[in-house]
Amino acid sequence: MAVSPPPRQALRGDLLDFTAAPVWGDTASTAVRYRPDHHLLVEGGRIVGARPAAEPLDPSWSVADHRGHLILPGFIDTHVHSPQLDVIASHGTALLDWLDTYTFPAERRYADPAEAEAGAARFLDALITHGTTSAVVFATVHKVSADKLFEAARARGMRLITGKVLMDRHAPDGLRDDVEQAERDCTDLIDRWHGVDRLAYAVTVRFAPTSTPEQLAMAGRLCTSRPGLYMQTHVAENVDEVKWVAQLFPEARSYLDVYARAGLMNARGVFAHGIWLDDTDRALLHDHQALIAHSPSSNLFLGSGLFGWRAAEAAGIPVAVASDVGGGTSLSIQRNLADAYKVQAMAGERLSAWTALHAATRGAALGLGLGDEIGSLEAGGVADVCVWDWAAGPVAQRRHEVAIALHEKVFAWMTLSDERNLAAAYVAGVPRHQRGAVSPC
Ligand SMILES: [Zn+2]
Repeated sequence: MAVSPPPRQALRGDLLDFTAAPVWGDTASTAVRYRPDHHLLVEGGRIVGARPAAEPLDPSWSVADHRGHLILPGFIDTHVHSPQLDVIASHGTALLDWLDTYTFPAERRYADPAEAEAGAARFLDALITHGTTSAVVFATVHKVSADKLFEAARARGMRLITGKVLMDRHAPDGLRDDVEQAERDCTDLIDRWHGVDRLAYAVTVRFAPTSTPEQLAMAGRLCTSRPGLYMQTHVAENVDEVKWVAQLFPEARSYLDVYARAGLMNARGVFAHGIWLDDTDRALLHDHQALIAHSPSSNLFLGSGLFGWRAAEAAGIPVAVASDVGGGTSLSIQRNLADAYKVQAMAGERLSAWTALHAATRGAALGLGLGDEIGSLEAGGVADVCVWDWAAGPVAQRRHEVAIALHEKVFAWMTLSDERNLAAAYVAGVPRHQRGAVSPC
């Protein structure tokens, strides 16, 4: 797996990324940087610049000719569960039943090191073949499941943020830890992996109901034990869940307040869903600049609710997009963006392709404090880059041909494409996925 990128590599295609956050609803945004038929210059795994393809390159550059393809920064999936590939597309339940019926039994398998190792490889390879080069990932309660994910991400050169799940109550046998053992496991994993290559540890609270107040307090202490640690959890996903949290934590003002009281609010916090929040919650998220990982496919599939993206934006909260597989039904970020558009349409809002794609690239990177490393095609960043067919199949092809404005073309792409459009994926300049049609020359 230890592959070095070519020393100087030029990726030829239509480059698209963002230099600022697009204004909501603006389809002719100046935040979009579109450079058709350019060479993206990559040296030692980092982006060093871009030039029009018409300008000759000196022979020291090897060219990967993707002309006629769309080149984007690799997507960032800000909330996804590695063991849940095993339960994706499971029928007939809402969140709490879904956990009991499908998820918990599947997660129990990951106590086995061989299962955890195979699962980590399967999961990370699946991310890459869907065009996702960075992710914030829930492992399982088992230390080994996080250990194997870190190991596999390091072997692939990926930016990965993960941690073992904390869960010491309201979970079946084989899936509970306790405060002392959990703290030891987290500390060991942090010592071994946090800050190594492109890896970072996330203190990972599954959600408030599955941790005792003592465990939440321990998690809060852990967050400040080392610089740069992340915190990930779920909040306000489902109405029954919100009611349960209110019963379990009567002293808290709201679901989010449970986390605030435990010291879990910080700028490196990633909160999945955030559907059932009020203005005070939103102000709290804004004050801490914590990130909401909006998971539209999961929210629709589990019937959880419709996320108020405009309200979050108005409150100044960073919003990224996530697959939340296995509640979500696809690792494809485009499919999730297409679902996000439909969720907003239900509220009478029209999500632009620019706001959507920004949330899956530069916006997510900034929300994670990684804007200098990932999420754009800016010089200095790591060359996590994906190459996409503009259209696959006769319907998308026809739509692409008749589209005139750039937003029209990209919105149609976002709505009609998926992982089958992926021609190549580069992680730190190394081609980790290449389809037959692509021939480096
Ligand atoms: Zn989730």
